[in-house]
Amino acid sequence: MLVSQILKDKSIQEVLRVAPGSSVGEAAEMLSAKKVGGVIVSDGESGLPAGIVTERDIVRELGKRGAICLEDKVDDIMTCELVTCEPNDRAIRVLQVMTEKRFRHMPVMEDGKLVGLVSIGDVVKARLDELSSQADALKNMIMGY
Ligand code: AMP
Repeated sequence: MLVSQILKDKSIQEVLRVAPGSSVGEAAEMLSAKKVGGVIVSDGESGLPAGIVTERDIVRELGKRGAICLEDKVDDIMTCELVTCEPNDRAIRVLQVMTEKRFRHMPVMEDGKLVGLVSIGDVVKARLDELSSQADALKNMIMGY
């Protein structure tokens, strides 16, 4: 299965972004409202992500500094050095990279533009669906359907 297939099947098709300069509180509100674990920091004009902020970053700052961090800019807590993938990458490879590097989000870039964000949940769900279809196909073959 390819990353492009996972993007097609996602319930939220838009790439969730917060603009650079937004507060950590605004990012937290978006994570909560959209029920996701991470957002891309990007002005949306160039399509180039400046970074990513995930719930892990926000919880880390909350633990260290308390609720005052919600007034900070996302720029201060985001991860700037992004590991990205492309629509034609295999989902299983993306899962391996996420597991090795211990994060759960991967921006998808095509021709230098951000076209999506996949989470480890998206990839695992897609893989389980694929395995279940394969199991059904094998069962049908054995039963002679
Ligand atoms: P996560 O497990 O995705 O909540 O992220 C754990 C940490 O890795 C956080 O500090 C994120 O900002 C960072 N992170 C998440 N995704 C990526 C990525 N694709 N490339 C680089 N860092 C990331």
